[in-house]
Amino acid sequence: MVLPVLGRIKTHERVTKIARLLTEGARIASATVRWQEGRWHVSFTVHTERPPATPARPVAVIGVDLGIKTLAVFSDGRPPIANPRHLNNAMRKLRRLSRAVSRKHGPDRRTGQKPSQRWRRANAARNRAEHRVAALRRDGIHQLTTSLARTYGTIVVEDLNVAGMIRNRRLAQAISDAGFGEIRRQLAYKTGWHGGRLLVASRWFPSSKTCSSCGVVKAKLPLRVRTYVCEGCGLSMDRDENAAHNLASLVERTVAGSGPETINGRGADHKTPPGGAGGRETSTPHRAPAARIRRGPSPTTGESLRILETQ
Ligand SMILES: [Zn+2]
Repeated sequence: MVLPVLGRIKTHERVTKIARLLTEGARIASATVRWQEGRWHVSFTVHTERPPATPARPVAVIGVDLGIKTLAVFSDGRPPIANPRHLNNAMRKLRRLSRAVSRKHGPDRRTGQKPSQRWRRANAARNRAEHRVAALRRDGIHQLTTSLARTYGTIVVEDLNVAGMIRNRRLAQAISDAGFGEIRRQLAYKTGWHGGRLLVASRWFPSSKTCSSCGVVKAKLPLRVRTYVCEGCGLSMDRDENAAHNLASLVERTVAGSGPETINGRGADHKTPPGGAGGRETSTPHRAPAARIRRGPSPTTGESLRILETQ
């Protein structure tokens, strides 16, 4: 790879992908070189035409239930994605290194104390481990979102109130690890690239409490109950799988029946109270993103069957 000023440099990562883009007529607008965590990184901004694409299964709809124990559970029998094990191992190592740092003499702004050599070394090791955790997390999420966006015409996820949940400190670490918000952000732009669409169910839609077979809605379903058992029709199914089914069939009922012309641009969904249609699956009121709202026919309340479209 040849850069201006620096000249020819060797890269650790292969540059075949960017080379292919260039032969296809892409232009590099800029290159940024930076030093981070013991490595040099170079990133490129590339202008390229993206040919209109179609996902492999354009009419397929998949409901995706994002979770903490299991990162993603799907409505179509695709095997669930566990949070990667190596991430947990890396996290454990990171915690150990952090403890080692805190036992050593660090810098102190009040007393002007300089950090010890041991502290510097331990701190550098901690930073490297942190970097690795972040990279592993990013990688897993990218693989998941790319594969979904390439395959399905319509992807339905839940509008999890991540900001609200992060205030609950015990859940916070796990959720930010799982990167729900990032998953949604990537799905939004990648479905755009691949010609599919992402639909986000209203956060009050009771995806977990609804029976995906007969449609009965339970008043309560504590988080520790991992299997959904319906008293009405006898359905017994993994809790998250049931939720994924509900997300998928939500879009079939709503969008297939009404078409895009039912979009109305009122822009926010503050009206349904947390204790209303959807119960308390996610509990903190939260400003809705600027998004168009599709309102579909609803057999029950009308309020729980909203689909926000993020793009
Ligand atoms: Zn049922």
